[in-house]
Amino acid sequence: MNENGKKLYEKVKRNVEVSQEEGTLEKQFGNFWKFACTIKTRQHDLKYLYEDSSREFVDQNRENLVKMRVDFVDHMESYVEQCIEIMRKKNFIVYYAKTNEEAQKIFMQELGDAKIIYKSKSTEAKDIGIIDVLKKNEIKIKETDLGDVLVQLFEYKLPSFQVGPGAHFTEEEIANKIKEIYGIELEPKAQAIVDYFRNTYRNELLNDVKISLTSANAISAEDGTIVLGENEGNISLITRATEKHIVVCGITKIVPTIFDAILVTKLQSRINNVSFNYISLISGPSNTSDIQGTSVQGMYGAKEVVVILVDDWRTKAARENLIYQDFLKCIGCKSCIYPCTASRAFGNIYASKYGLGATAIIRDYIHNGIEAAVNDGLFLCTGCENCYHWCPVSINCSEILKDMKKEATEKGLAPPHLEQYKEKIFKDKNPFL
Ligand code: SF4
Ligand code: SF4
Repeated sequence: MNENGKKLYEKVKRNVEVSQEEGTLEKQFGNFWKFACTIKTRQHDLKYLYEDSSREFVDQNRENLVKMRVDFVDHMESYVEQCIEIMRKKNFIVYYAKTNEEAQKIFMQELGDAKIIYKSKSTEAKDIGIIDVLKKNEIKIKETDLGDVLVQLFEYKLPSFQVGPGAHFTEEEIANKIKEIYGIELEPKAQAIVDYFRNTYRNELLNDVKISLTSANAISAEDGTIVLGENEGNISLITRATEKHIVVCGITKIVPTIFDAILVTKLQSRINNVSFNYISLISGPSNTSDIQGTSVQGMYGAKEVVVILVDDWRTKAARENLIYQDFLKCIGCKSCIYPCTASRAFGNIYASKYGLGATAIIRDYIHNGIEAAVNDGLFLCTGCENCYHWCPVSINCSEILKDMKKEATEKGLAPPHLEQYKEKIFKDKNPFL
């Protein structure tokens, strides 16, 4: 174990201790998170809305989904080309960015002199470094999903779950925070809090949005349609009542057909047991031909829809068969976290700046290397493979993490007790002697 390894080990050990200490934010989150994961996993076998459970829904579609994603990864470049060509025909402004840096540059150009941006669904934008660039350039980021609005309100800096980032705040805490910041006294009830934001923020989303940022749940290569699912209506508002809607995502959001795109979106809602009350299919900017058949862009909806498709590590991972090649199949459903033993045990210290759990740690490894992953708690992973057995597209995150652990060990970054086990196995053929 080298000096860096020792420092990282001490840091993770301290994080674990903090997560067990009463009264810390980490402990509070951990308690909520264990409960949330148990509920979510149990919900997988309930049939409370549909005739099949979400587990049955996933099982029924798994074979087709795996085939579809394998086919996409095998023919990634031609699907990207097909998608860009059709999108341009449909008057999208489309960019293909080879690297994250290129995407950031394009994004800032498209932003022009705007100083404020409204956004929703940001995992991909974080991955691509857009959020960091916005912060560096002092562009005001206005969250619109209520969970993210709450995270912003609390100035909560610890990693949180991407699907419900503010779900761990209690009604009392939120009501108190609103009183502290806005001087408004609210009944500490979810309905009163939602009413407050509806009455104060909705108008702004309807009238003031000039530029909005989203990712996509999926994009169809066949007809260039962007699919976006949501519950709240915030995405519908900010993608319609805006001048310019910018979509930033990795090329792996592309799927072959519109049916695949809808299946992926539906699956993301079923697998997380959340309702997507709105599913938007965006096939170009707002348009009318109602005056003498002349096609004019920008009637009531967005005048421009800009799409920045980012490659960065993706084509390289496929061509060079990198250890995270399997991750290219990921549809970003984020549900592998619920059965994860490490996530349940360690909450938001088994995490990175991209969110909680294995997929967030793999993203950190891709962008920032093995030390970042060890710092995120890589060695807290038990190798149980629950993530693999649950994943709807059969991605073996456990195997990717195992390869990362191998790399970390070769670089002297493994925790000391693992070194001791190794020595005992070699010497005594028994790690427990
Ligand atoms: S790796 Fe996780 S987030 Fe990705 S598709 Fe599988 S279960 Fe979903
Ligand atoms: S193998 Fe690791 S990442 Fe996967 S479920 Fe188990 S503890 Fe979590």
